[in-house]
Amino acid sequence: MPMETEKIELLGKSLSELEAFVVENGQPKYRARQLFKWIYYKETASFYEMTDLPKEQRSLFDEIAKISIPRVLKQRVSRDGTRKFSMELEDKKKVETVVIPHNSDKPNKYTLCISTQVGCPIGCAFCATGQSGFQRNLTFYEIVGQVLGSKKELQKRLKNDDDDLISNIVYMGMGEPLLNYDATIKSLYIINDPKGINIGQRHITISTCGEVKGINQLAKEDLQVTLAISLHAASDAVRDRLIPLNRKYPLAELLKAVENYIAATNRRVTFEYILLDEVNNSYHDASNLIKLVKPLMANINLIPYNSVNGLGFIQPGKDKVMQFYNWLLQGGLNVTLREEKGADIEAACGQLVMKKSIRSKQ
Ligand code: SF4
Repeated sequence: MPMETEKIELLGKSLSELEAFVVENGQPKYRARQLFKWIYYKETASFYEMTDLPKEQRSLFDEIAKISIPRVLKQRVSRDGTRKFSMELEDKKKVETVVIPHNSDKPNKYTLCISTQVGCPIGCAFCATGQSGFQRNLTFYEIVGQVLGSKKELQKRLKNDDDDLISNIVYMGMGEPLLNYDATIKSLYIINDPKGINIGQRHITISTCGEVKGINQLAKEDLQVTLAISLHAASDAVRDRLIPLNRKYPLAELLKAVENYIAATNRRVTFEYILLDEVNNSYHDASNLIKLVKPLMANINLIPYNSVNGLGFIQPGKDKVMQFYNWLLQGGLNVTLREEKGADIEAACGQLVMKKSIRSKQ
């Protein structure tokens, strides 16, 4: 029997790739469709659960192949229904994935926030992930596996078999997606595959803190996804302090890349702006932001900071948040104030971290 490390990974394979796999192993082509269904519709990681395959074929597949859907080790549930899953990868490293309920207009639909790296090499000053260091990139199938593993866990916890429970994907979890470019893009195509997980590109968002090389590459892909830029400051002096990558790609260079991206894709871009009290929420900051963003016709998403112990940043009070919001509105920006989700379980923006123990609540 081959060693575990020699097994062929089936997670992430398209139907035609599965067909090639079964035929190479002396099996009829139609078995591929059965495998495909078990992997992408039933989120099954064990060949022995594939009850419509003959027993000998289950054993054969188990000997030569594997389906590495990450296991949910622990979860925390927020008062607002947001869930944070801690998932274990094959090498025992852990990533966090967040399931966010939609607003009341779409009950029983969830947005999934997925990770692309274990930890993060960028080290943003306000972010728990960035402070916990970088371990490695995720493979494309580990990124896809978070979707399947989360969906299966959610269906189990909610006792709801709805195949469309997860309607949106945001690449906003641990890591900088565009620093793991190839795996991110490959995972995106698999998540989007209409024959498989089938999440429309317009329901997928990739978030970057300003990796210009990746933005330029992304502009050349023929994709309809939303690009979100974590801006968080409207001057290089403040941004250098918050996001070390700004020293490599200062604001002028970043905004030029965004402008080119918009011209190439004809897609609107969203700017994320975390409000940190006494750091980036003055009238001067608002004026600078309006000057930078208005020509790009972009959306601005304001996010009141979610506190992380020991990092020294403070969330502005509601009055200051509304004041900043109004300054941007009056300046003619298309601005939304993000509804806070999951802050009580450290699942909100910037709070994900590789923790050793997470208490299960349900
Ligand atoms: S905010 Fe994003 S890019 Fe910055 S350290 Fe955190 S995970 Fe990395």
